[in-house]
Amino acid sequence: MEQSVVPRQLGRRAVVIGGSVAGMLAARVLSETFGEVIVLEADQRPEGKLPRKRVPQGHHSHLLLMSGQQVLDRLFPGFTGELVADGSVETDFTEDMEWFHFGEWKRRFRGGLKNLQQTRPFLEWHLRRRLGEYGNVAVRYGTIVEGLVLSPGGHHVSAVKLRESRGGTEELSADFFVDAGGAGSQTLQWLTGREPAPHTTESVRIGLSYATRYYEGRPEDKGRSWKNLLVSAQLPELPSFGAILSFEGGKVGVTLGTYLGEPAATEEAFLKLAQSLPQPHIYDYIREAEPLGEIRTYRFPAQQRRRPDRIAGLPGRLVMLGDAYCRFDPIYGQGMSVAAMEAELLQRELAALANGSGLDTLHRIYYRGLVKLTDYPWEAALTEAFRHPAIPGDRPPGLRLKQWLTTRIYRTSARDELVYTRLVQAMNLTHAQSVFFHPSVLLRLLR
Ligand SMILES: Cc1cc2nc3c(=O)[nH]c(=O)nc-3n(C[C@H](O)[C@H](O)[C@H](O)COP(=O)(O)OP(=O)(O)OC[C@H]3O[C@@H](n4cnc5c(N)ncnc54)[C@H](O)[C@@H]3O)c2cc1C
Repeated sequence: MEQSVVPRQLGRRAVVIGGSVAGMLAARVLSETFGEVIVLEADQRPEGKLPRKRVPQGHHSHLLLMSGQQVLDRLFPGFTGELVADGSVETDFTEDMEWFHFGEWKRRFRGGLKNLQQTRPFLEWHLRRRLGEYGNVAVRYGTIVEGLVLSPGGHHVSAVKLRESRGGTEELSADFFVDAGGAGSQTLQWLTGREPAPHTTESVRIGLSYATRYYEGRPEDKGRSWKNLLVSAQLPELPSFGAILSFEGGKVGVTLGTYLGEPAATEEAFLKLAQSLPQPHIYDYIREAEPLGEIRTYRFPAQQRRRPDRIAGLPGRLVMLGDAYCRFDPIYGQGMSVAAMEAELLQRELAALANGSGLDTLHRIYYRGLVKLTDYPWEAALTEAFRHPAIPGDRPPGLRLKQWLTTRIYRTSARDELVYTRLVQAMNLTHAQSVFFHPSVLLRLLR
């Protein structure tokens, strides 16, 4: 079987650890420059559009930002059209979202920024289907990577050690590796042979708790003027938030959460948390609506970014992508879209290599790009989190000024269409934060 693989530009085989969103996107990108791509996924082959055991966050409402949609359409042409055809809910962000934020309801208008809403398992199912069209990509389910093998001299990774759920073990060699194994990744330990030094992981404990329940859409929902409703947290005074979001098949997801709090795991706690929000809409909604299942909870202890770029002499031919590299405060809905942007960064760096020898040092260039790519979503989330004095962490210089500016942006956007549009573009990661520094926007903020 090994002989039948046709060598391509950069190498015979690439291996991806983890077959979730980041792993599938990495595999798609690697399929262009490697003879074969093998994705190793610890979970069993998923059945239909259902949450998976090892992706417990899949039970919770997931938003796909515009930036993520754009990348998915570039990697899998026509992808978002397929989502819509299968029932994803199309929304106009500023028109279809009733949003209570920093003490005000935002004025709604048709702004043109379209979002597609679908549950996480639905999105994964479509990704799996499209990835299945690539003949040189294979997914081995029920396969757990337990370690790495380094080349003699330790310059690069040469194989992964894997164990199958049926019991077999194996060392699988390849020319290049991507760790897309999610937040629990142990790659830095495996690469260095020790616990990573503190400066190689940035971590801010936000103690976020999540609880989500799905409800059956009601006939009266159709007559409503909004499809989504969001009551945001405002730290430190209002540490809780809630959202009602529309998904495929008429499903409605209600998510409630709190910083530095306990998840609302029981019916009573769920109702109580909804009632504690500064607006009654979510409480009123869940009292009337018909639940489709149980309340699912999730604890999200810390926003975390690994910094392999700070490790001298790191072995090459392996890069991290997705939550394995960085996980963001989930309320901003950035994780999957940033993973998609990271996959495109990898695609660009691979395309720039003249031959396979460049794989030895690719990680250095890639990690430099990754720090830049993730700086904005990382800082944007922390600017808000650091408003809470009990959230620990070194406050960066200029934080107070940034917080003052974002408060101005939030308040002004409630009434000003241009500022709201810029806010939504920055949140969707389609525009850089510099959009706020255009004179036309600054003038409105400083009025
Ligand atoms: C409560 C919550 C809500 C969120 N909401 C949003 C949202 O609205 N929008 C958004 O974009 N993002 C959201 N996120 C973030 C999003 O879930 C992640 O960013 C996204 O799942 C990243 O995907 P990933 O592929 O890197 O990791 P994961 O989806 O966590 O997948 C990791 C995969 O690797 C496999 N794996 C792990 N270790 C091994 C191993 N050793 N060997 C083989 N396989 C392995 C696992 O089985 C799993 O399939 C949310 C996160 C949470 C916690």
